[in-house]
Amino acid sequence: MSSSKKMINVLMVSPTLQGHLNPTLNFAKRLASKGVHVTLAIPEETPHRFQNLNTQETNSHHSNNPSKIQLEYFSDGLSIDHDRSKYPATFIASLETKGAENLSNLMTHLKKNDRSFSCLITSLFMPWSVDVAVSHGIPCAVLWPQASALFSIYYRYVCNANHFPDMENPNETLQLPSLPMLRVRELPSVLLPSCPPYLKKLLMDFKPILDKVKWILGSSVYEFEEEIVNSMASLSGILTIGPLVSPYLLGQKESEDSDDLSENFLRPEDSCLQWLNEKATSSVIYVAFGSLMEFSQKQMDNIATALKNTKKPFLWVITPQKGGAELPQGFLEEIKEMGLVVTWCPQAKVLMHPAVACFVSHCGWNSTLEAVTAGIPIVALPNWLDQPTNAKLVENVFKTGVRMRIGEEEDGVASAEEVERCITEVMEGPMAEEIKMRAVGLKEVARKAMVDGGSSDRNINRFVTEISGKST
Ligand code: UDP
Repeated sequence: MSSSKKMINVLMVSPTLQGHLNPTLNFAKRLASKGVHVTLAIPEETPHRFQNLNTQETNSHHSNNPSKIQLEYFSDGLSIDHDRSKYPATFIASLETKGAENLSNLMTHLKKNDRSFSCLITSLFMPWSVDVAVSHGIPCAVLWPQASALFSIYYRYVCNANHFPDMENPNETLQLPSLPMLRVRELPSVLLPSCPPYLKKLLMDFKPILDKVKWILGSSVYEFEEEIVNSMASLSGILTIGPLVSPYLLGQKESEDSDDLSENFLRPEDSCLQWLNEKATSSVIYVAFGSLMEFSQKQMDNIATALKNTKKPFLWVITPQKGGAELPQGFLEEIKEMGLVVTWCPQAKVLMHPAVACFVSHCGWNSTLEAVTAGIPIVALPNWLDQPTNAKLVENVFKTGVRMRIGEEEDGVASAEEVERCITEVMEGPMAEEIKMRAVGLKEVARKAMVDGGSSDRNINRFVTEISGKST
């Protein structure tokens, strides 16, 4: 973009959720690199959740670029020590009323101090923020932190654009345009009867705000989901601007360059990188299930047994959860130096490490994109939300991994044999070679999308031009 353009100010809003904040920060950095001044407004409790966030105003990654990402806070109306994960419905209701009021007050305050915005970029976790943008007379964009396929499914569901079954039978099938045949159990869990009402409400809030939003910006790559994106064009277009992953995964940053605006709530245990340094190329199984996953004890035991039985080195992230499952007794002594267990790791650097062979993942969208961008095959063990559908995409559309099969009689738990079978399938034999070749191919596609002139870069430029009031 030309440097002679006048500075564009945007306001970005993100909830205190790792899976939302990561793409938001990566998009903020990307916009800053294009000369946009980004103000990122986050709930006041967020810095208290971070052990790692630099809360000072920060320069964008491009040191010769004067743009900044500036952090601001607004209260969600609850005390800092309120347990938001234990009472999500109270938290979401308070955000909707007090949060909206406080965000609006913050915008008024910033405007008085000469910071008015060309656009508000928000998350559908905060649908009320669209009305805040409208009340301030600025256009609104939604940052969609999931696959375009998920956007298509939610849209078609809430807008009755297609027939959906009643969702009672998990094995019933459904054919939606440009998607593989999906079983009910492979749909996002918010569509299922078991979904908690507070999440159902967020889903139903989706429809009324679509009319008020000018852009849906998706953290995906056009070439990954070409048919799906095209199939949505006549309904509600989605502009793919991803993968919104760490620049390190895109080969755009040197490994030792410090993150000036770090994404992690938890401090990563960097020592695992030294441990990886001592392992042979493509020998290590990396196991991590994001920031929210809670396992049953049976599932934890089965994964532990499978890892031990593979006799391959593994790095396993287990983030302690209150009342969560624990490693089987004596496991760490038994495996000795064969495995390393950490509470949080620098995932982007781990996935890019030459020793890592595959990623056993819950298929949160960020983890899925990170693996694809690193060219690492996935072994999918999804649980809820968008994860079952992402796992289906990995196996059937991207073809960069395999999904664990779980029988109904097994209470949603993958057996030790199934975990081991899937790991072996992506690490050994002709199918493993095919998957690896696809993964390496998609890595190149992802990188190309983000370089100058790539599909996502072009869409970001188009968005910046549109918010600056200039025609394309
Ligand atoms: N992550 C990380 N270190 C870990 C585990 C996860 O940095 O040890 C990051 C990961 O890179 C990803 C995010 O946490 O960006 C998890 O997001 P995702 O959408 O995969 O899952 P969620 O946490 O939303 O379930």
